[in-house]
Amino acid sequence: MSEETIFSKIIRREIPADILYQDDLVTAFRDINPKAPLHLLIVPNILIATADDITEAHEPYLGRMMTVAAKLARDAGVAEDGYRLLMNCRDHGGQEVYHIHLHLLGGKPLGPMLA
Ligand code: C5P
Repeated sequence: MSEETIFSKIIRREIPADILYQDDLVTAFRDINPKAPLHLLIVPNILIATADDITEAHEPYLGRMMTVAAKLARDAGVAEDGYRLLMNCRDHGGQEVYHIHLHLLGGKPLGPMLA
């Protein structure tokens, strides 16, 4: 069974985080260790440990994560120049927190991902 991570405490506002957006399905906050001028994490309000645990029942959460990411990118002024959305899965994907999260990175040229 999946264990709660620090992200559940952020979602419940039990520990501080710079939350920019929250609704019934998702929460978005600034990454504590930003890798770009804009680095946000968009997470579902329920625990889904990895991308490999996503099922059809989770589609409303995943859909909302994408629309909120696009809205936050527009709000932050990075949409026109562009940005990167990514999700890491398990060890080889470099996943550190086992509560799925969409990284939104922007505010500078990020270069080709697979160069
Ligand atoms: O995709 P991955 O699991 O590696 O990313 C986890 C991200 O969560 C990291 O970028 C890390 O800086 C961020 N983090 C955070 N706040 C915490 C713990 C981790 O923003 N309290």
